[in-house]
Amino acid sequence: MRVSLDNVREMDRQDPLADFKRRFALPEGVLYLDGNSLGAQPVAAKQAVDGTLDQWRTQLIKGWNQGWFDAPERLGNLLAPVIGAQDGEVVVTDNITLNIFKLLGYILDKRQDERRIVLSEGGNFPTDAYIAQGYCRVSGNEHRFLPEGGNLAEHLDGVAVVVLSQVNYRTGQLRDMAATTQLVHEHGAEIIWDLAHSAGALPIDLNGAGARYAVGCTYKYLNGGPGAPAFLYVHRDHLDSTWQPLSGWHGHTSPFAFQADYTPANDISRFRTGTHSALIYSALEASLSMWAEVDMQALRDKSLALSNLFRECLEDIFAARGIEDITPAASQRGSQVSLIDGENGYAIVQALIARGVIGDYREPGLMRFGFTPLYLSYEDVWQAAQHFREVVESGEYQDPQFHVRGAVT
Ligand SMILES: *Cc1c(COP(=O)(O)O)cnc(C)c1O
Repeated sequence: MRVSLDNVREMDRQDPLADFKRRFALPEGVLYLDGNSLGAQPVAAKQAVDGTLDQWRTQLIKGWNQGWFDAPERLGNLLAPVIGAQDGEVVVTDNITLNIFKLLGYILDKRQDERRIVLSEGGNFPTDAYIAQGYCRVSGNEHRFLPEGGNLAEHLDGVAVVVLSQVNYRTGQLRDMAATTQLVHEHGAEIIWDLAHSAGALPIDLNGAGARYAVGCTYKYLNGGPGAPAFLYVHRDHLDSTWQPLSGWHGHTSPFAFQADYTPANDISRFRTGTHSALIYSALEASLSMWAEVDMQALRDKSLALSNLFRECLEDIFAARGIEDITPAASQRGSQVSLIDGENGYAIVQALIARGVIGDYREPGLMRFGFTPLYLSYEDVWQAAQHFREVVESGEYQDPQFHVRGAVT
């Protein structure tokens, strides 16, 4: 490989984020390039969850008044600076799927005009379109797709709401949030941004981009843990007395008054539904507390340097083996490398996993490698590239065991 081990060790010595690695509990012998699917465990998460278990044991129901009940708002405020939002604009609750449903209902209830179309993008993570279709079935709205690669401006006639991802989960393509938001608003539509693959992966400025609505998850780049709740953002100027359709007691203006009729809370809390898990919120809180110390520009610089390093180490292999590198140019890239090998992609990923190099595979033919600057060193990425080279050059991936499909890929 053109880059030497000495080179990457020197890069690690100069890395301003290098100290964060010690704050993650990574298993020995694993090179983890799948933090874009499930982030690694912060050391502080275990203490936090243990603390909540103790609190449950000793305090019993009193725990709800000792930080459990208001965790969705408290964590929302912790997360807000990471995504360019202010206090009171973010709530951590439910999952992305439900949060899109709630925002669609909220926006469409607010509009009350003749526009009926909900537009999803082709090629996005499917749940975003599935739930928009489900919403349209119960509401009588019309669901349409923006064809993958289609020109958005040409598909906005009669559109009430668009749901778009800032970073595409397959290709890693990054959209210009400010320009796209402006375009959609100029066409009289609203936009819900999905930040699943950008929150915690790059600097985001929701307020600065003029974004009014967004959702995202916390178990990918934000390291909240398996099943950690998603977030929902509404710009303060667009919070009013409108209902969201999943009107549950935790979103009521006074949940413990147990009134017969629903009255939405007059702030971001209206987007809560019902009881959440105090345990997983405490794991997420431990992680979000760490994010306050992260310099997001340094994170972005390292993210791009890591993905470039991986590709540079393997350029010749890609060319020799017909592996297509579809990773976008740096300015339009999330925090992943995307490679296409329709024939062997699945088996190469499995052979790498057997060596402790964890990436993932998405149909059809896509090998995905996520780069998480807080807990990956330059040497880790260099070593992962070395394994990739050996797996491909030796033909190790041809072993039949690497061709068997599991339930979760
Ligand atoms: C990961 C991801 C989701 C996950 O949705 P959940 O409802 O939180 O399971 C949704 N949308 C996109 C774009 C994603 O990448």
